[in-house]
Amino acid sequence: MEQELLQVNHLKKYFSIRGGIFSREIGQVKAVDDVSFTVRKGETLGLVGESGCGKSTTGRSILRLIQPTDGQVLFEGKDVTKMSADEVRRLRRDMQIVFQDPFASLNPRHTVGRILEEPLIVHRIGNAKERKERVMHLLEVVGLHTAYAKRYPHQFSGGQRQRIGIARALALNPKLIIADEPVSALDVSIQSQVLNLMQDLQREFDLTYIFIAHDLSVVKHISDRVGVMYLGRMVELADKNRLYNTPKHPYTQALLSAVPNIDPDVKKERIVLQGDVPSPSNAPQGCAFHTRCALAMDSCKSIRPEWKAVGEGHFVACHLYH
Ligand code: SF4
Repeated sequence: MEQELLQVNHLKKYFSIRGGIFSREIGQVKAVDDVSFTVRKGETLGLVGESGCGKSTTGRSILRLIQPTDGQVLFEGKDVTKMSADEVRRLRRDMQIVFQDPFASLNPRHTVGRILEEPLIVHRIGNAKERKERVMHLLEVVGLHTAYAKRYPHQFSGGQRQRIGIARALALNPKLIIADEPVSALDVSIQSQVLNLMQDLQREFDLTYIFIAHDLSVVKHISDRVGVMYLGRMVELADKNRLYNTPKHPYTQALLSAVPNIDPDVKKERIVLQGDVPSPSNAPQGCAFHTRCALAMDSCKSIRPEWKAVGEGHFVACHLYH
């Protein structure tokens, strides 16, 4: 069995909604509501769902960029949620993030050289000469000319900026990179270049990825396994081929029916979901998907479906399979 690098157990992140003159808590947004999964060393786990489904909050909770409300995040057996500030700082060497919008995440007043050197300075790695060499090496591994170290972020295209974001994430030799919609802001023609680069880097540096996206077609290329989220909950998780060929959850089936087929001979029926995603501050009782599910039964309205195995490594939360 492959070694697990990360184990997420019953993760919850609730945000308070405050109101009134005393700013009392008047409700909660259950952004992540009891999510469990594992990530194996060297694999890419895709996390997919519509906006507001909790995938980015899950990523940020794993990194402790935000403090989870409850649950465990075990990284190499140590619980990230219980770590002190010092331990979290050390954890940053092993876990990094690549953001969706590289422009917003790169300091516009700093040269690329300075941006890439900063994590090395913060973690007191090498002397000035060694750090400079490391910066040059990082630029090379992401396919950028070393002369670019003197330029500023606004002098680059979107694809180049994302390469800089990836180089920064690589600076400390991390084990896990959480890529939060890393290609969503890029032109389609550039997307595959960045995805290919990430795959090459994964092989070269033995990286493990959590790849967050709203589109099942993007994660198909890069993922080994895929988890589908809806309104703060994981609804299905399986090996990529199983999930794409035999999706079980009605929500996954609907998402997949919207992915264009490359083979014109394969006809598939588009499942159009009714209505919009309900507000996470007022998630439906029972199965959160029941307000949009064509197969909903009475029990779906009141009983939350359990997270159960329906095949090898294939999990689903739906009453149809229990
Ligand atoms: Fe649909 Fe019920 Fe399954 Fe939810 S539990 S996906 S409402 S059938």
